[in-house]
Amino acid sequence: MAAEDFTPGLNFIRTIIEADIKAGKNGGRVHTRFPPEPNGYLHIGHAKSICLNFGLAAEYRGLCNLRFDDTNPGKEDVEYVDSIMADVGWLGFDWQDRLYYASDYFEQLYEFALHLIRSGKAYVCALTAGQIREFRGTLTEPGQNSPCRERSTAESLDLFQRMRAGEFPDGSYVLRAKIDMASPNLNMRDPVLYRIRRESHHRTGDRWCIYPMYDYTHPISDALEGITHSLCTLEFEDHRPFYDWALDQLPVPCHPQQIEFARLNLSYTVMSKRKLLELVDKAYVRGWDDPRLPTLTGLRRRGYTPEAIRNFAEIVGVAKRESMVDMALLEHCLREDLNKRAKRVMAVLRPLKVVISNYPENQVEELDAENNPEDPGMGTRKLPFSREIYIEQDDFREDPPKKFFRLSPGKEIRLKHAYYIRCVDVIKDTQSGEIKELHCTYDPESRGGWTQDGRKVLGTSHWVSAAQALDVEVRLYDKLLSVANPAGEKEEKDFMEYLNPASLEIVKNCKVEPSLVAAAPGDRFQFLRQGYFCVDLDSTSEMPVFNRAVTLRDSWAKIEKSQQVK
Ligand code: ATP
Ligand code: MG
Repeated sequence: MAAEDFTPGLNFIRTIIEADIKAGKNGGRVHTRFPPEPNGYLHIGHAKSICLNFGLAAEYRGLCNLRFDDTNPGKEDVEYVDSIMADVGWLGFDWQDRLYYASDYFEQLYEFALHLIRSGKAYVCALTAGQIREFRGTLTEPGQNSPCRERSTAESLDLFQRMRAGEFPDGSYVLRAKIDMASPNLNMRDPVLYRIRRESHHRTGDRWCIYPMYDYTHPISDALEGITHSLCTLEFEDHRPFYDWALDQLPVPCHPQQIEFARLNLSYTVMSKRKLLELVDKAYVRGWDDPRLPTLTGLRRRGYTPEAIRNFAEIVGVAKRESMVDMALLEHCLREDLNKRAKRVMAVLRPLKVVISNYPENQVEELDAENNPEDPGMGTRKLPFSREIYIEQDDFREDPPKKFFRLSPGKEIRLKHAYYIRCVDVIKDTQSGEIKELHCTYDPESRGGWTQDGRKVLGTSHWVSAAQALDVEVRLYDKLLSVANPAGEKEEKDFMEYLNPASLEIVKNCKVEPSLVAAAPGDRFQFLRQGYFCVDLDSTSEMPVFNRAVTLRDSWAKIEKSQQVK
């Protein structure tokens, strides 16, 4: 990404809006909309559009509508409608009483279609879909007129009304705009406005057997709602002439301005709803809310906060040029947010038992631990400490390499918030040779993790007291795809070929400190040295489950630093 994309504040859309306000256009009003098609769950790309539309409206004291673009009954469903509303609300935006459905305009859209026919701007065409494509021409060759193009107004009116009445089979007729088959813009070569489809609609049921096309529905819906700035992604740039054409032909209350911006692409993942649906349908993931997916419901389950996503949307900004945003930036935004508010706790993912031989048996003491060094206001909690604890297997090496700043035979480390311990013995399974436990001694003078003599230790480890620890399951996630951009690979294969087989690792029998006993699904914590974790929906009191939302290593900060050096 180039630096220009990082300038928060001004962008080309704000520049347009501010000029419009200054010029008194639309009476100075700003009214946007977020228009999802309810044919899948929302993803992080949609979040960019939501933040942009609702964000601009808030910024300019305007309004933003939520409108379902539900003109494609075969693929749409109330499940998606409900999830979209939940996700927009979760992101922190409120459409108040402005919830709309394009299907609410079906009658009006039909009336407008009659208007177009009457004014000689539309005709009923009997060409098949294949023929229409053939007649359309190419980018270098003009199209040919349909033999139906000169059908009389009266005949088109009659046929169109009978299309609605259900007199003709699916695919037998379409209504087309009459524009220009020689236009250099293919979208202006008599585009289809209506097709016959006997499909039940999730809102209008079987009331209609003709459905309007998206390109026809969208400008009219915008105009009927008094939208001033209709923001959409770049692929609609070539559709703008038709957007304007439709509004120019019809007695609509206003003429919104379509403005295009580059869609968000994110590395190592897929964003198209078709691909997401394929992953869900073929059960490569556990559902739309699988924490590996970039869906909002997946990100939420994984532990993302609305604040992190809104901040991400602001940082990526809007541009006129397609680009690929590094997943590391999204992760960076989550860390920034959770660093401020996640409670620090101790969790040992791969436990190694340590017996502190000089600590009194049956003694349990309570040590003070700060909840968040970034925010003393978050207070402290008590941590039980006893003779038997667990540390991370990785925090011990029998034969440490140079610069191994953790525990090894004869060496001393600090246990966070607790004591200095020194390893005096390594107990192994006599058969397998596997390390079963360590025997250590502790320095009673080092309570809290500090000594009077200021003696240095190799490092600091997290730990949990064995008797009080809770057993939990931890789910570690990695990138969904093994390559950043499948389209950029030498030999482009289907995206399924790039699925990372190690995107999920389930670790059982992890040990966490007892303060987590009350953690509920959605609660987020920093497991010291391990990352930020969120209690999963599958969690029960018998078996708590934690998702790792993100590790602590901030590769984005590194990338940023190296760019500053240049
Ligand atoms: P997809 O291509 O992922 O299936 P879509 O564009 O068909 O998505 P819609 O439901 O039509 O999905 O999108 C609703 C709004 O969100 C549109 O205005 C669209 O431009 C915007 N949007 C969709 N994907 C992105 C993205 N990756 N970045 C920014 N905006 C997006
Ligand atoms: Mg779409």
